[in-house]
Amino acid sequence: MSRFLCDKYAPLKEYTPGEQPQGMKFIKLNTNESPYPPSENVITAAKEQSELLNLYSDPQAKELKKALAERYGTEYENVFVSNGSDEILEFFFMAFCSDRKVAYPQISYGFYPVYAQLFGADAEEIPLKDDLSIDHNDYVAINKNIVIANPNAPTGICLTKNEIEQIVSSNKDNIVLIDEAYVDFGGESSVELVKKYDNIVVCMTFSKSRSLAGGRLGFCFANEKIIQDLEKIKYSTNPYNVNRMTQACGVEAIRNDGYYMQNAKKIICTREYLIGEYKALGFEITDSKANFIFASHSDISGKELYEELRSHGILVRHFSTPRISNFVRISIGTQEDIQTLVSVTKEILKARRAL
Ligand SMILES: *Cc1c(COP(=O)(O)O)cnc(C)c1O
Repeated sequence: MSRFLCDKYAPLKEYTPGEQPQGMKFIKLNTNESPYPPSENVITAAKEQSELLNLYSDPQAKELKKALAERYGTEYENVFVSNGSDEILEFFFMAFCSDRKVAYPQISYGFYPVYAQLFGADAEEIPLKDDLSIDHNDYVAINKNIVIANPNAPTGICLTKNEIEQIVSSNKDNIVLIDEAYVDFGGESSVELVKKYDNIVVCMTFSKSRSLAGGRLGFCFANEKIIQDLEKIKYSTNPYNVNRMTQACGVEAIRNDGYYMQNAKKIICTREYLIGEYKALGFEITDSKANFIFASHSDISGKELYEELRSHGILVRHFSTPRISNFVRISIGTQEDIQTLVSVTKEILKARRAL
Protein backbone atom coordinates (compact mmCIF):
# COMPACT_ATOMS: atom_id res chain seq x y z
CA MET A 1 0.00 0.00 0.00
CA SER A 2 1.39 3.43 -0.86
CA ARG A 3 1.11 6.35 1.53
CA PHE A 4 -1.30 7.97 -0.93
CA LEU A 5 -4.19 5.49 -0.80
CA CYS A 6 -7.34 7.10 0.59
CA ASP A 7 -8.02 6.01 4.15
CA LYS A 8 -11.40 4.52 3.38
CA TYR A 9 -9.87 1.95 1.01
CA ALA A 10 -7.14 0.77 3.36
CA PRO A 11 -9.31 -1.93 5.02
CA LEU A 12 -10.89 -3.09 1.70
CA LYS A 13 -10.61 -6.85 1.25
CA GLU A 14 -10.42 -7.38 -2.49
CA TYR A 15 -11.82 -10.31 -4.47
CA THR A 16 -9.48 -13.24 -5.18
CA PRO A 17 -9.99 -14.71 -8.66
CA GLY A 18 -9.32 -18.40 -9.30
CA GLU A 19 -5.88 -19.27 -10.67
CA GLN A 20 -5.41 -18.50 -14.38
CA PRO A 21 -2.21 -20.37 -15.24
CA GLN A 22 -0.64 -19.00 -18.42
CA GLY A 23 0.75 -21.55 -20.83
CA MET A 24 0.97 -24.41 -18.33
CA LYS A 25 -0.81 -27.60 -19.31
CA PHE A 26 -3.56 -28.16 -16.77
CA ILE A 27 -7.00 -29.65 -17.11
CA LYS A 28 -8.63 -26.44 -16.00
CA LEU A 29 -11.74 -27.07 -13.90
CA ASN A 30 -11.44 -24.15 -11.49
CA THR A 31 -13.25 -21.06 -12.82
CA ASN A 32 -16.45 -22.37 -14.43
CA GLU A 33 -15.54 -21.38 -17.97
CA SER A 34 -17.04 -23.29 -20.89
CA PRO A 35 -14.76 -26.06 -22.17
CA TYR A 36 -16.17 -25.42 -25.67
CA PRO A 37 -14.85 -22.73 -28.01
CA PRO A 38 -16.90 -19.78 -29.29
CA SER A 39 -18.88 -20.48 -32.49
CA GLU A 40 -17.16 -19.81 -35.85
CA ASN A 41 -19.28 -16.68 -36.45
CA VAL A 42 -18.25 -15.24 -33.10
CA ILE A 43 -14.57 -15.72 -33.94
CA THR A 44 -15.07 -14.12 -37.38
CA ALA A 45 -16.91 -11.17 -35.81
CA ALA A 46 -14.05 -10.56 -33.37
CA LYS A 47 -11.52 -10.61 -36.21
CA GLU A 48 -13.56 -8.19 -38.33
CA GLN A 49 -13.96 -5.75 -35.47
CA SER A 50 -10.27 -5.97 -34.59
CA GLU A 51 -9.57 -4.03 -37.81
CA LEU A 52 -11.67 -1.14 -36.49
CA LEU A 53 -10.02 -0.88 -33.10
CA ASN A 54 -8.99 2.70 -33.84
CA LEU A 55 -12.66 3.63 -33.40
CA TYR A 56 -14.64 3.72 -30.16
CA SER A 57 -17.42 1.20 -29.65
CA ASP A 58 -21.13 2.11 -29.70
CA PRO A 59 -21.75 3.47 -26.18
CA GLN A 60 -25.44 2.51 -26.52
CA ALA A 61 -24.61 -1.04 -27.69
CA LYS A 62 -27.83 -0.87 -29.72
CA GLU A 63 -27.50 -4.01 -31.81
CA LEU A 64 -26.53 -6.11 -28.84
CA LYS A 65 -29.35 -4.81 -26.67
CA LYS A 66 -31.84 -5.45 -29.47
CA ALA A 67 -30.64 -9.01 -29.88
CA LEU A 68 -30.90 -9.64 -26.12
CA ALA A 69 -34.37 -8.07 -25.83
CA GLU A 70 -35.60 -10.31 -28.64
CA ARG A 71 -33.97 -13.46 -27.24
CA TYR A 72 -35.38 -12.96 -23.75
CA GLY A 73 -38.76 -11.48 -24.68
CA THR A 74 -38.33 -8.05 -23.12
CA GLU A 75 -38.34 -4.51 -24.49
CA TYR A 76 -35.14 -2.80 -25.58
CA GLU A 77 -35.57 -0.34 -22.69
CA ASN A 78 -35.32 -3.19 -20.18
CA VAL A 79 -31.78 -4.23 -21.16
CA PHE A 80 -28.37 -3.14 -19.87
CA VAL A 81 -24.99 -4.52 -20.99
CA SER A 82 -21.69 -4.41 -19.19
CA ASN A 83 -18.04 -5.37 -19.10
CA GLY A 84 -18.72 -8.75 -17.51
CA SER A 85 -21.65 -9.17 -15.15
CA ASP A 86 -19.28 -8.25 -12.32
CA GLU A 87 -19.69 -4.70 -13.59
CA ILE A 88 -23.48 -4.92 -13.23
CA LEU A 89 -22.99 -6.06 -9.65
CA GLU A 90 -20.61 -3.16 -9.11
CA PHE A 91 -23.04 -0.62 -10.59
CA PHE A 92 -25.91 -2.17 -8.61
CA PHE A 93 -24.10 -1.80 -5.29
CA MET A 94 -22.92 1.69 -6.23
CA ALA A 95 -26.33 2.93 -7.41
CA PHE A 96 -28.66 1.27 -4.93
CA CYS A 97 -26.74 0.07 -1.88
CA SER A 98 -24.33 2.89 -0.98
CA ASP A 99 -25.11 3.67 2.66
CA ARG A 100 -28.19 1.44 2.45
CA LYS A 101 -29.13 -1.98 3.74
CA VAL A 102 -28.49 -5.06 1.65
CA ALA A 103 -28.75 -8.77 2.45
CA TYR A 104 -27.21 -11.76 0.68
CA PRO A 105 -26.41 -15.35 1.59
CA GLN A 106 -23.42 -15.88 3.86
CA ILE A 107 -22.03 -18.40 1.40
CA SER A 108 -22.36 -17.16 -2.16
CA TYR A 109 -20.43 -15.34 -4.87
CA GLY A 110 -17.32 -13.78 -3.33
CA PHE A 111 -17.79 -10.41 -4.99
CA TYR A 112 -20.94 -9.43 -3.04
CA PRO A 113 -19.11 -8.63 0.23
CA VAL A 114 -16.35 -6.85 -1.69
CA TYR A 115 -18.76 -4.45 -3.42
CA ALA A 116 -20.76 -4.04 -0.21
CA GLN A 117 -17.61 -2.91 1.56
CA LEU A 118 -16.39 -0.79 -1.35
CA PHE A 119 -19.63 1.21 -1.48
CA GLY A 120 -20.28 1.35 2.25
CA ALA A 121 -23.41 -0.79 2.25
CA ASP A 122 -24.89 -1.90 5.55
CA ALA A 123 -24.67 -5.59 4.71
CA GLU A 124 -26.32 -8.56 6.38
CA GLU A 125 -25.02 -12.04 5.55
CA ILE A 126 -27.81 -14.56 5.99
CA PRO A 127 -26.66 -18.12 6.86
CA LEU A 128 -27.56 -21.06 4.64
CA LYS A 129 -29.55 -24.03 5.97
CA ASP A 130 -27.67 -27.11 7.23
CA ASP A 131 -27.88 -28.68 3.76
CA LEU A 132 -26.25 -25.51 2.29
CA SER A 133 -29.46 -24.43 0.56
CA ILE A 134 -31.01 -20.96 0.83
CA ASP A 135 -34.22 -20.65 2.84
CA HIS A 136 -36.20 -18.14 0.78
CA ASN A 137 -38.33 -17.33 3.84
CA ASP A 138 -35.27 -15.65 5.37
CA TYR A 139 -35.65 -12.99 2.67
CA VAL A 140 -39.41 -12.47 2.71
CA ALA A 141 -40.41 -8.97 3.87
CA ILE A 142 -36.99 -8.06 5.30
CA ASN A 143 -37.19 -4.52 3.94
CA LYS A 144 -33.60 -4.49 2.61
CA ASN A 145 -32.09 -4.71 -0.83
CA ILE A 146 -31.30 -8.32 -1.65
CA VAL A 147 -28.75 -10.08 -3.84
CA ILE A 148 -29.15 -13.79 -4.54
CA ALA A 149 -27.28 -15.97 -7.00
CA ASN A 150 -29.71 -18.49 -8.49
CA PRO A 151 -28.34 -21.15 -8.87
CA ASN A 152 -26.23 -20.20 -5.88
CA ALA A 153 -22.44 -20.33 -6.00
CA PRO A 154 -20.53 -22.41 -5.08
CA THR A 155 -23.27 -24.92 -4.22
CA GLY A 156 -25.25 -24.87 -7.47
CA ILE A 157 -28.50 -25.18 -5.50
CA CYS A 158 -31.57 -23.38 -6.93
CA LEU A 159 -34.62 -21.53 -5.72
CA THR A 160 -37.79 -21.73 -7.82
CA LYS A 161 -39.22 -18.75 -9.68
CA ASN A 162 -42.14 -18.89 -7.30
CA GLU A 163 -39.85 -18.55 -4.27
CA ILE A 164 -38.05 -15.64 -5.94
CA GLU A 165 -41.42 -14.00 -6.61
CA GLN A 166 -42.32 -14.24 -2.90
CA ILE A 167 -39.08 -12.41 -2.09
CA VAL A 168 -39.63 -9.72 -4.71
CA SER A 169 -43.32 -9.11 -3.99
CA SER A 170 -42.76 -8.85 -0.24
CA ASN A 171 -39.94 -6.28 -0.50
CA LYS A 172 -41.60 -3.72 -2.78
CA ASP A 173 -39.64 -0.75 -1.42
CA ASN A 174 -36.31 -2.44 -2.08
CA ILE A 175 -34.50 -3.86 -5.08
CA VAL A 176 -33.83 -7.56 -5.49
CA LEU A 177 -30.99 -8.63 -7.77
CA ILE A 178 -31.10 -12.21 -9.00
CA ASP A 179 -27.70 -13.25 -10.36
CA GLU A 180 -28.42 -15.92 -12.99
CA ALA A 181 -24.84 -16.53 -14.13
CA TYR A 182 -25.53 -20.30 -14.24
CA VAL A 183 -29.20 -20.40 -15.20
CA ASP A 184 -28.64 -22.11 -18.57
CA PHE A 185 -27.52 -25.32 -16.86
CA GLY A 186 -30.89 -26.26 -15.41
CA GLY A 187 -32.16 -23.44 -13.17
CA GLU A 188 -35.46 -21.61 -13.55
CA SER A 189 -35.07 -18.03 -14.78
CA SER A 190 -36.94 -15.16 -13.15
CA VAL A 191 -36.63 -12.92 -16.21
CA GLU A 192 -40.41 -12.90 -16.74
CA LEU A 193 -40.86 -11.20 -13.37
CA VAL A 194 -39.31 -8.06 -14.85
CA LYS A 195 -42.62 -7.37 -16.62
CA LYS A 196 -44.59 -7.70 -13.41
CA TYR A 197 -42.37 -6.00 -10.81
CA ASP A 198 -40.41 -2.74 -10.88
CA ASN A 199 -38.00 -3.87 -8.11
CA ILE A 200 -36.19 -6.85 -9.66
CA VAL A 201 -32.95 -6.99 -11.63
CA VAL A 202 -32.13 -10.26 -13.39
CA CYS A 203 -28.46 -10.44 -14.23
CA MET A 204 -26.75 -12.88 -16.66
CA THR A 205 -23.38 -13.35 -18.33
CA PHE A 206 -21.80 -14.63 -21.53
CA SER A 207 -18.91 -16.02 -19.47
CA LYS A 208 -20.30 -19.43 -18.53
CA SER A 209 -22.77 -20.91 -21.03
CA ARG A 210 -21.72 -18.73 -23.97
CA SER A 211 -17.97 -19.37 -24.06
CA LEU A 212 -16.99 -15.70 -23.76
CA ALA A 213 -15.34 -15.34 -20.33
CA GLY A 214 -12.32 -13.62 -21.89
CA GLY A 215 -14.55 -11.21 -23.86
CA ARG A 216 -16.13 -9.84 -20.66
CA LEU A 217 -19.83 -9.45 -21.40
CA GLY A 218 -22.68 -9.28 -18.92
CA PHE A 219 -26.29 -8.16 -19.25
CA CYS A 220 -29.33 -7.61 -17.12
CA PHE A 221 -33.05 -7.02 -17.38
CA ALA A 222 -35.05 -4.65 -15.20
CA ASN A 223 -37.69 -1.93 -15.22
CA GLU A 224 -36.63 0.88 -17.56
CA LYS A 225 -36.16 3.36 -14.69
CA ILE A 226 -33.65 1.02 -13.06
CA ILE A 227 -31.89 0.61 -16.42
CA GLN A 228 -31.69 4.41 -16.67
CA ASP A 229 -30.03 4.52 -13.24
CA LEU A 230 -27.48 1.93 -14.31
CA GLU A 231 -26.84 3.92 -17.51
CA LYS A 232 -26.29 7.02 -15.40
CA ILE A 233 -23.57 5.20 -13.44
CA LYS A 234 -22.08 3.85 -16.68
CA TYR A 235 -21.93 7.29 -18.32
CA SER A 236 -20.36 8.61 -15.12
CA THR A 237 -17.59 6.02 -15.10
CA ASN A 238 -16.95 4.36 -18.47
CA PRO A 239 -19.35 5.06 -21.39
CA TYR A 240 -17.52 2.60 -23.68
CA ASN A 241 -17.65 -0.18 -21.12
CA VAL A 242 -18.18 -2.93 -23.72
CA ASN A 243 -15.52 -2.92 -26.42
CA ARG A 244 -16.43 -3.29 -30.10
CA MET A 245 -15.12 -6.82 -30.51
CA THR A 246 -17.12 -8.04 -27.55
CA GLN A 247 -20.31 -6.27 -28.69
CA ALA A 248 -20.07 -7.97 -32.09
CA CYS A 249 -19.29 -11.33 -30.46
CA GLY A 250 -22.35 -10.96 -28.25
CA VAL A 251 -24.64 -10.32 -31.23
CA GLU A 252 -23.29 -13.36 -33.07
CA ALA A 253 -23.49 -15.54 -29.96
CA ILE A 254 -27.20 -14.75 -29.67
CA ARG A 255 -27.63 -15.57 -33.39
CA ASN A 256 -25.90 -18.91 -32.72
CA ASP A 257 -27.98 -19.57 -29.62
CA GLY A 258 -28.65 -23.18 -30.68
CA TYR A 259 -24.95 -24.01 -30.59
CA TYR A 260 -24.54 -22.66 -27.07
CA MET A 261 -27.69 -24.22 -25.68
CA GLN A 262 -26.57 -27.53 -27.19
CA ASN A 263 -23.22 -27.14 -25.39
CA ALA A 264 -25.10 -26.41 -22.16
CA LYS A 265 -26.97 -29.70 -22.64
CA LYS A 266 -23.68 -31.56 -23.12
CA ILE A 267 -22.35 -29.98 -19.92
CA ILE A 268 -25.49 -31.06 -18.04
CA CYS A 269 -24.97 -34.66 -19.27
CA THR A 270 -21.33 -34.61 -18.21
CA ARG A 271 -22.31 -33.14 -14.83
CA GLU A 272 -24.77 -35.96 -14.23
CA TYR A 273 -22.12 -38.50 -15.26
CA LEU A 274 -19.63 -36.98 -12.80
CA ILE A 275 -22.19 -36.87 -9.97
CA GLY A 276 -22.92 -40.59 -10.53
CA GLU A 277 -19.24 -41.56 -10.56
CA TYR A 278 -18.36 -39.41 -7.55
CA LYS A 279 -21.31 -40.67 -5.50
CA ALA A 280 -20.14 -44.21 -6.20
CA LEU A 281 -16.75 -43.21 -4.80
CA GLY A 282 -18.40 -42.01 -1.58
CA PHE A 283 -18.53 -38.26 -2.22
CA GLU A 284 -21.23 -36.05 -0.76
CA ILE A 285 -22.48 -33.70 -3.45
CA THR A 286 -24.91 -30.77 -3.39
CA ASP A 287 -27.81 -30.79 -5.86
CA SER A 288 -26.09 -28.60 -8.43
CA LYS A 289 -27.93 -27.17 -11.41
CA ALA A 290 -24.82 -25.25 -12.54
CA ASN A 291 -21.76 -26.04 -14.68
CA PHE A 292 -19.87 -27.20 -11.59
CA ILE A 293 -20.32 -29.63 -8.74
CA PHE A 294 -19.56 -29.03 -5.09
CA ALA A 295 -18.25 -32.16 -3.40
CA SER A 296 -16.67 -33.43 -0.19
CA HIS A 297 -15.32 -36.80 0.93
CA SER A 298 -14.84 -38.18 4.45
CA ASP A 299 -11.46 -39.77 3.61
CA ILE A 300 -9.73 -36.62 2.36
CA SER A 301 -10.00 -32.93 3.19
CA GLY A 302 -11.01 -30.41 0.56
CA LYS A 303 -7.59 -28.80 0.68
CA GLU A 304 -5.74 -32.10 0.28
CA LEU A 305 -7.94 -33.19 -2.60
CA TYR A 306 -7.34 -29.85 -4.31
CA GLU A 307 -3.58 -30.27 -3.84
CA GLU A 308 -3.51 -33.91 -4.95
CA LEU A 309 -5.51 -33.13 -8.09
CA ARG A 310 -3.24 -30.18 -8.80
CA SER A 311 -0.15 -32.37 -8.58
CA HIS A 312 -1.84 -34.65 -11.15
CA GLY A 313 -2.36 -31.68 -13.50
CA ILE A 314 -6.01 -30.98 -12.67
CA LEU A 315 -7.01 -27.58 -11.30
CA VAL A 316 -10.17 -27.29 -9.19
CA ARG A 317 -11.26 -24.61 -6.70
CA HIS A 318 -10.98 -24.84 -2.94
CA PHE A 319 -12.33 -22.22 -0.52
CA SER A 320 -10.97 -22.05 3.01
CA THR A 321 -14.21 -20.37 4.14
CA PRO A 322 -15.76 -21.87 7.31
CA ARG A 323 -18.45 -24.54 6.69
CA ILE A 324 -17.28 -25.26 3.14
CA SER A 325 -13.55 -25.78 3.64
CA ASN A 326 -13.98 -29.52 3.24
CA PHE A 327 -15.45 -29.14 -0.25
CA VAL A 328 -13.97 -28.66 -3.68
CA ARG A 329 -15.78 -26.98 -6.53
CA ILE A 330 -15.18 -28.70 -9.84
CA SER A 331 -16.17 -27.03 -13.12
CA ILE A 332 -17.65 -29.33 -15.72
CA GLY A 333 -15.20 -29.76 -18.58
CA THR A 334 -15.49 -31.92 -21.68
CA GLN A 335 -16.65 -35.50 -21.14
CA GLU A 336 -13.06 -36.61 -21.79
CA ASP A 337 -11.57 -34.26 -19.17
CA ILE A 338 -14.12 -35.37 -16.61
CA GLN A 339 -13.37 -39.02 -17.32
CA THR A 340 -9.70 -38.25 -16.63
CA LEU A 341 -10.73 -36.48 -13.41
CA VAL A 342 -12.69 -39.54 -12.30
CA SER A 343 -9.82 -41.96 -12.88
CA VAL A 344 -7.28 -39.67 -11.18
CA THR A 345 -9.66 -39.28 -8.22
CA LYS A 346 -9.96 -43.08 -7.96
CA GLU A 347 -6.15 -43.35 -7.80
CA ILE A 348 -5.90 -40.66 -5.13
CA LEU A 349 -8.54 -42.31 -2.93
CA LYS A 350 -7.00 -45.76 -3.42
CA ALA A 351 -3.57 -44.48 -2.36
CA ARG A 352 -5.19 -42.95 0.75
CA ARG A 353 -6.90 -46.12 1.81
CA ALA A 354 -3.67 -48.08 1.40
CA LEU A 355 -1.92 -45.80 3.91
C1 LIG B 1 -18.94 -15.95 -12.88
C2 LIG B 1 -19.95 -15.22 -12.07
C3 LIG B 1 -20.23 -13.88 -12.28
C4 LIG B 1 -19.39 -12.96 -13.12
O1 LIG B 1 -19.23 -13.27 -14.36
P1 LIG B 1 -18.57 -12.26 -15.40
O2 LIG B 1 -17.46 -13.05 -15.98
O3 LIG B 1 -18.11 -11.02 -14.69
O4 LIG B 1 -19.69 -11.99 -16.32
C5 LIG B 1 -21.25 -13.28 -11.57
N1 LIG B 1 -21.94 -13.97 -10.66
C6 LIG B 1 -21.69 -15.25 -10.39
C7 LIG B 1 -22.49 -15.96 -9.37
C8 LIG B 1 -20.67 -15.91 -11.09
O5 LIG B 1 -20.38 -17.16 -10.78
